[in-house]
Amino acid sequence: MLSKDLIVNKLYIIPAGHGMLKEFFFNTNLGADNPELLYSPLCIYLLDTSDGPILIDTGFAEVFLNNPDFYKGTPLEGALYMYMEEDHRLPNLLKRAGLQPKDIKLVIATHFHSDHSGGNPYFLETQTPVLVQQNELTILDDENYSPPACRIKGLNYQVIDGDYQLCDNIRLISTPGHSPGHQSVLINTASSGYVLLCIDAALTEANFRNNVPYSAADPEVAAESLKKIQAITAEHNAFPIFGHDEKQAKGIKVYPEFY
Ligand SMILES: [Zn+2]
Repeated sequence: MLSKDLIVNKLYIIPAGHGMLKEFFFNTNLGADNPELLYSPLCIYLLDTSDGPILIDTGFAEVFLNNPDFYKGTPLEGALYMYMEEDHRLPNLLKRAGLQPKDIKLVIATHFHSDHSGGNPYFLETQTPVLVQQNELTILDDENYSPPACRIKGLNYQVIDGDYQLCDNIRLISTPGHSPGHQSVLINTASSGYVLLCIDAALTEANFRNNVPYSAADPEVAAESLKKIQAITAEHNAFPIFGHDEKQAKGIKVYPEFY
């Protein structure tokens, strides 16, 4: 489907809103009753490649649009607030880069949580290939997992199981734990070399550098996945980008700058 020798000209980071989450999600050594809320930035990633645009994740589900109190009256009330504005709907995020959903050649779905696959319905009509890990498809019927928009059945899923070398310069790394079929992405960019998108295999630098445990469906498996991406980062001298790190997000290059 993609050329083996595809070149990643640019990796763009496009901010896509933020959440306010109990600090416990980022550090489960704290009790769940710890009242502190942390700012949690959210991004999508767009690759400008020699084979066309590749999108990694699709942002918030639109149930959060101007509705930070979505979880009021649910068990998550008081634990998590999502801040999504009109600019953060997927077509508007892509418009910043002069693109529409139909222009995307391939979508890489890291996992189906509410802040990572909310724009997936825009790829139903286009039948754009959506690359996903087999184990993440096991949650499609789980209503407690994420809003329905994130768990669409009719997409053109390209299913992989484990690590997968998509082309010479892009590798999918299976990193289960945070979710059943979570994956991270190692990219060799033309101007910046190796970048590792940890996504939610490391929410913050503290998770990555100090092995601080974070919210995960299976914490033991998540700890193994963390070791795996630490080793791959070292092996390739890669720049790790964390899933939801406020401090890193403040210093990182965002669109129209690139890696
Ligand atoms: Zn996330």
